Amino acid sequence: MLRAFQRLIGIGARVLQLSLELEHAPPRTAQDLKRRLVARGLNDRYSLRLTDNHSVVISFSDAEVRIHRGYLGAPEHVLDAIVEFVQAGSRRSRSDARRELLAYRLPHSEKPRRARRAIRERTHPADERFARELKRHHADLNASKFSAELSDIPIRVSRRMRSRLGHYTWRRPDGGGSEIAIGSRHIRRDGWDEAVHTLLHEMVHQWQDERGLKVDHGREFRAKARSIGIAAKARRGVA
Ligand SMILES: [Zn+2]
Repeated sequence: MLRAFQRLIGIGARVLQLSLELEHAPPRTAQDLKRRLVARGLNDRYSLRLTDNHSVVISFSDAEVRIHRGYLGAPEHVLDAIVEFVQAGSRRSRSDARRELLAYRLPHSEKPRRARRAIRERTHPADERFARELKRHHADLNASKFSAELSDIPIRVSRRMRSRLGHYTWRRPDGGGSEIAIGSRHIRRDGWDEAVHTLLHEMVHQWQDERGLKVDHGREFRAKARSIGIAAKARRGVA
């Protein structure tokens, strides 16, 4: 009797400690995160595994959910999106959840892997003045056409683009790595106004990416392009 009573106190203290931890500290292990997800409705049958895979940030099977460890620090609405993604009742709600998950910027991993970084062309010194001007236009257009919603990303002038006029490079899952490149040949051949028009086109892709929308020339692209007064021509490439 006494032993049973002591054990009960022991458990009670642990439960209390646990709930304090849950309230105040971000989860640090797969177990912590699973407890939190179960508290938000995740079926207890899943085991949870943390990964470092940047290209597939979340996946699941009947028995296991694999999720990038960057989500350990995610706020509650993102945790809800994880539960929704795994247990969604419809394609629609799963794709809403996916959007929410991708919109969350993963913190940089502690050990960045060098091999994963793409080697990028740098702006040719003779094109630096174009790059600076484009950067200034990016800031102005962001304020005048996008309510300053877009982030300040690198703008580069490329000598490698032959037929393409410009391109936008998507964010990595950790939120970094996006950029806009405008063709040097395009600027010289078609003139400055056309180049700024291309920049604006690529900014619509940036807007799609940062909103968690699909980066394409679909309906949302065309509607946004129209609303800011540009022609929704598709020949400016998506990277
Ligand atoms: Zn495009």
